Amino acid sequence: MLSDKEQVEFLGKKPPACTKSTIEKLMMNFQQISRNIDDLDQDLNQLAKRLDYLEESITEHYTLVQPQKQETKKKRRTANLIKRDFQCPYEKCDKIYGTDISLNLHIRLKHNGGSKIEREELAKKILEAKFQDEVEPEHSFNLPPNFIEDFYIHHQEYINNLEKAYNKKILL
Ligand SMILES: [Zn+2]
Repeated sequence: MLSDKEQVEFLGKKPPACTKSTIEKLMMNFQQISRNIDDLDQDLNQLAKRLDYLEESITEHYTLVQPQKQETKKKRRTANLIKRDFQCPYEKCDKIYGTDISLNLHIRLKHNGGSKIEREELAKKILEAKFQDEVEPEHSFNLPPNFIEDFYIHHQEYINNLEKAYNKKILL
């Protein structure tokens, strides 16, 4: 609350100069930026579609260049028969890819998951924060479900070094 004296001073002050042309300029900038965001959003959708298409093409290509075993029947393997081990970790997403490169691109574009390197760097920062009892660092992209747990399991040497450095064990 302002005191009476402060209120009088506050009301007596001139508001910052804001001419009509300044407001118009700001509005135009704002509209331009909104349009740019719309355009980028459309580009992103297009890229995601292309990614799907490329993934299909790569799968088909692998199928075609695989040496045909001595089969008398020339039967091309369908996409479903290709070994696809790289499953999207998001529960409601059923995408499975033939390579981790494709899966990582998918996570980046469809789930705003950042790049593989970004995710791993973040996992390290989060684990370090846990060791130091600090709050989890902020991040602009999403970590897939169980990412920290999986990282923990698959980077035992890194965890061991952390445990040594902080001289304590950590349970997730
Ligand atoms: Zn997915």
